Amino acid sequence: MLKGLLARLRREPAPIPGDLWREARAGLPWLRGLDAGDDARLAGLAALFLQRKAITPLAGLALGDLERVQLAALCCLPLLLFGAEGLHGWSELLVYPDAFRVNRSHVDAAGVLHEWEDELIGEAWEAGPLVLSWADVQADIADPGAGFCVAVHEMAHKLDALDGVLDGTPPLPRAWQREWARDFQQAYDAFVRQVDDGRRTLLDPYAAEAPEEFFAVCSEYHFSDPKLLRRAFPKVAAQLERLYGPSPL
Ligand SMILES: [Zn+2]
Repeated sequence: MLKGLLARLRREPAPIPGDLWREARAGLPWLRGLDAGDDARLAGLAALFLQRKAITPLAGLALGDLERVQLAALCCLPLLLFGAEGLHGWSELLVYPDAFRVNRSHVDAAGVLHEWEDELIGEAWEAGPLVLSWADVQADIADPGAGFCVAVHEMAHKLDALDGVLDGTPPLPRAWQREWARDFQQAYDAFVRQVDDGRRTLLDPYAAEAPEEFFAVCSEYHFSDPKLLRRAFPKVAAQLERLYGPSPL
């Protein structure tokens, strides 16, 4: 029985039919510039994604094959160099039709419980599902160079969480990790100072929330406005290029 289970786990995913893949690619501006090798690698990763992750539309949303392949391709775009290990540790993609509300709570140092509601367009649970708003994925596609890509943002959190700590550093070889930590820390500190001083920033001030948000937001810029990222933080841009490969834009 164990043998059968192992065989099933190792089973190659069914390849995505060529015409379906081409249609999916045509609708995703970030994929149009990929060379044949990267395109084939991304198709393979997307097939694996579809095999391993349940994509569950919620609140009346319906998703056809084309939409599912596009979601898989977008989520795998940051994994082109990193590879399939980037898919470890979770099994479900939940898709809301639009931004969604979540209840938050926090007990402060004085023992007082604070509760509030947040409206989100995406969320990545550390060992749980990845959640996306379909309307916001569509908005990113409609304006691919605007600096936003919620699927990439949430996948950056998933990469970050692979080593068990959400701290803005994905698992990397030790020497690279040291350089990464140095370059990101410098940039993050400078960015937080800009925001705290009330200065106008090139990047979305949300990136000042925490080091992990800085990494996720910069990842969005890498894919959707790499020039702006290079202008703001050239060393961070270089680190992301090393992690993700050259920006497709
Ligand atoms: Zn985030």
